Amino acid sequence: MPKPMKPEYRACRTTRHWMETFIPGPGEYRGPDWGHTIALLCVRCGMQRFVTIDSLGNISTSRYIAPPDYKLPADEVPTNGELRIALLRDQRKTEREGARRRNGKRAS
Ligand SMILES: [Zn+2]
Repeated sequence: MPKPMKPEYRACRTTRHWMETFIPGPGEYRGPDWGHTIALLCVRCGMQRFVTIDSLGNISTSRYIAPPDYKLPADEVPTNGELRIALLRDQRKTEREGARRRNGKRAS
């Protein structure tokens, strides 16, 4: 069984990141000094991606900056099957809690 993982990290590892463009703050990484860089931020887990485009429109480099605890040692990375099963478990728990709230009971 995989180790406990933040639900948003599990969702992103299973269904990919949900990224939007953003403007890095003062002093934050903005990409290399050459080319044109698009900064992307995953609104679910906080992963940042910096895609640098060359003059022909090709991706020259792509750098990811992971949120804390996102990266795992190779021998601790869950399989895709383990991630999907855990995601289903999260979804069922959310559905049960939603049903309890609709029935006027508090989720515990
Ligand atoms: Zn993500």
